[in-house]
Amino acid sequence: MDYFDYKNGELCCEEVPVKDIAAEAGTPVYIYSKATLMRHYSGVVKAFAELDAIICYSIKSCGNLHILKLFAENGGGFDVVSGGELARAQQVGADMKKIVFAGVGKTDNEIREALTAGIGWFNIESEQEFENLSRLAAETKTKTRAALRVNPDVFDPNTHAYTTTGKKETKFGVDIDRAAAFFEKYGHDANVTLDGIHLHIGSPIYSPQPYVDAITKTLGLIEEIRAGGGKVNVLDIGGGFAADYEADKSPSAQAYADAIVPLLKGTGLQIILEPGRHIACNAGILLSQVLYTKRGGDKKFVIVDAAMTDLIRPALYEAEHFIYPAHLDHDEFPPNRRFDFAPANGEQVDIVGGVCETGDILGKSRTLPPMQRGDLLSIFSAGAYGFVMSSQYNARPRAAEVLVDGDSFKIIRRRENYNDVFAAEIF
Ligand SMILES: *Cc1c(COP(=O)(O)O)cnc(C)c1O
Repeated sequence: MDYFDYKNGELCCEEVPVKDIAAEAGTPVYIYSKATLMRHYSGVVKAFAELDAIICYSIKSCGNLHILKLFAENGGGFDVVSGGELARAQQVGADMKKIVFAGVGKTDNEIREALTAGIGWFNIESEQEFENLSRLAAETKTKTRAALRVNPDVFDPNTHAYTTTGKKETKFGVDIDRAAAFFEKYGHDANVTLDGIHLHIGSPIYSPQPYVDAITKTLGLIEEIRAGGGKVNVLDIGGGFAADYEADKSPSAQAYADAIVPLLKGTGLQIILEPGRHIACNAGILLSQVLYTKRGGDKKFVIVDAAMTDLIRPALYEAEHFIYPAHLDHDEFPPNRRFDFAPANGEQVDIVGGVCETGDILGKSRTLPPMQRGDLLSIFSAGAYGFVMSSQYNARPRAAEVLVDGDSFKIIRRRENYNDVFAAEIF
């Protein structure tokens, strides 16, 4: 469910026709709907209310400060995976006690920054990392808490290999069969209170079942740790709730909760969730303008001013984003995000960007109404892992970001200019 709809043939974000935004902010431009962000966010909060869970929104999915501030003001915490993301959380005045810090490669500087900031938990991914954290806590005369990221050897076969993280053979976490020994060895550290377990089994996970499997295994582990004299007070079940790139493919927050909450109710564990994509994905589109159309062999191409530098997911994971014109002459409204939808006068095209890479594809073999130079095309479900993964390759300034709230909109990140591209260079 989102607030991007066609009204009188014009794609609108909430009450604002996206063409009005293009006229003011230019293209390519990321457009986010505040109402959609808040709806998805509060959907997760409500679904897991019974557990009194801390919702730590994953900054890496969509990290604009303006958006983070909305969540911080609503009492949310954050999942950070770098010093830079911690700095973002600090910028918006986030409650540091609700920050969890994950990542297999935390540097000494990042750890010192997080210790000094007084974050809630470090999610620890290896024995060496725990020892390093303890050493740095002693050095900075700080105390902290940690959760062990456990790899439960559970995964969703529908998740792309590059975004599966819960299998044994990934770089993330510690194998579940090593976890009890980990607690025995480090559970009584003087500087770091190891009292939590962290899971993040991949993304997106299209059904509640992998969570049920992973949590069930983990509850067994927690009993084993407690029997060995270890403490576990916190269970962070990570992120990975799916979003509808195609309509009605992903469970609602409530559907995940219906399966997960009964397992955790009454355990006394402080539960943490780290949703990202589920909240941000369908709250954003990438709006681009058609530059040219052309033929190549039997193929037709629509070349747009957005490119893999703005949205790399199709090139990186062969991710599929629904793409459709922002203006429709006839009543050819697409059913909300359906890849098999083909308008009567449609033609099959590849939608590509202008970067010097064959892989610079935004949508392959899509049926669109005939496109003209200057037409606006919307790439849907681009709110998560969209702008945050953009680059300046080919010296392309990054796109602007706009937030719509009802009948008004605001540029929340101005379009970069050439100076921004080479500002850090010395010659
Ligand atoms: C990426 C990530 C998330 C968020 O994943 P989504 O699929 O966007 O919900 C949460 N936790 C950790 C540790 C991550 O790396």
